[in-house]
Amino acid sequence: MNNLPINLDIKIKEKEKSYPIIIDKEDISSIKTKILAHLDGPKFLVIISEKVNKLYGEKLGFSKEQIFVLKDGEKEKNLKNYQKITDYALKMQLSRKDTIVAIGGGVVGDLAGFVASTYMRGINFIQIPTTLLACVDSSVGGKTGINTKYGKNLIGAFYQPRAVLINTNFLTTLDEKQFKAGFGEVIKYALIEKSCKCNMGFDLTNFLAENIDKINSCNTKILAELISICVSMKASVVEKDEKEGNLRRILNFGHTYGHAIEKETAYKKFTHGESVVEGIKYAFNLAFKKGLIDKNYKHFADDLIKKFNFKEIPKFPLKNMIKHMQMDKKNTSEKLTFILPTDYSVVEPVEINPDELTE
Ligand code: NAD
Repeated sequence: MNNLPINLDIKIKEKEKSYPIIIDKEDISSIKTKILAHLDGPKFLVIISEKVNKLYGEKLGFSKEQIFVLKDGEKEKNLKNYQKITDYALKMQLSRKDTIVAIGGGVVGDLAGFVASTYMRGINFIQIPTTLLACVDSSVGGKTGINTKYGKNLIGAFYQPRAVLINTNFLTTLDEKQFKAGFGEVIKYALIEKSCKCNMGFDLTNFLAENIDKINSCNTKILAELISICVSMKASVVEKDEKEGNLRRILNFGHTYGHAIEKETAYKKFTHGESVVEGIKYAFNLAFKKGLIDKNYKHFADDLIKKFNFKEIPKFPLKNMIKHMQMDKKNTSEKLTFILPTDYSVVEPVEINPDELTE
């Protein structure tokens, strides 16, 4: 087990820049001091989830003027809130040297990051993820964005934060549904491990099998280790391909069909993680049908997913799902691009004709 804090670095080759990802379990009240260490100018605006503010606002100790409280829910990642936040930042005279801080799950991180990427043509940005999903995935790698009625994340930017500060104490207040949501991305990493070319020297699926009880009981030390593994894998991919020209596309494993589920159910019924897991199962079925993997590997993936007890998601009308998937940014032609398993923890982009799909 790594001792805490765990310090990782992500080096973006194209920009010849790196930023730290620090994982610890110190008292939440230490966060304000840590933010101060990563500022340029004197001011900062914290964009914080309503629930996180209720739970931790007092401990975090920001003044009322320093925070913009964002209501919870995927639907809040929208243009209206983008405008409200930029108006608020202008009103408080946040300058080009100042900083936007995101404290919350992926919704807050994606929206706040997009604000930071465009405000005064881009200002300093710090990510403080408070859900498991945001810790293992969304806070790292610089994808920011908002949703429109046409689909998820269709407006956004690649914009790297100055630092990612992860404190596993936040995870102890997640409800079961939100805690579990993080495992959608964790399972993804386990099943794409070799393709990430991270050379960690051990197997994430074994780690999950060995520590499943500690993980499910929210052991913050084991979670810190799990987060550091997933983040190292993501960093390895993003360092090589920041803007999803090629390799980074593998991180969309499970997301083509997963995003379609979220769109079909108006982002209300299932979490992002639940939808991604269903998308992973869909990808495995498709790969098996196309003869890309054998039965044993499909069963192996099914068994891994079963360990996390996700609830069943019903089937949706295929024509609706195809329509949603056709809006996906990854498609370059009439065909749909799926990331499919082709070997043990190896995935590849595969173009699929919509006629080949079944429910
Ligand atoms: P979320 O941000 O909606 O948070 C889920 C819920 O958890 C919210 O109700 C929130 O208030 C609550 N919450 C947050 N922290 C808490 C805490 N410590 N204790 C108790 N409750 C807490 O959901 P999410 O799963 O974190 O993120 C999903 C979003 O992330 C989606 O919009 C998805 O598109 C995006 N995402 C982005 C990337 C990326 O690379 N940028 C990657 C994956 C997912």
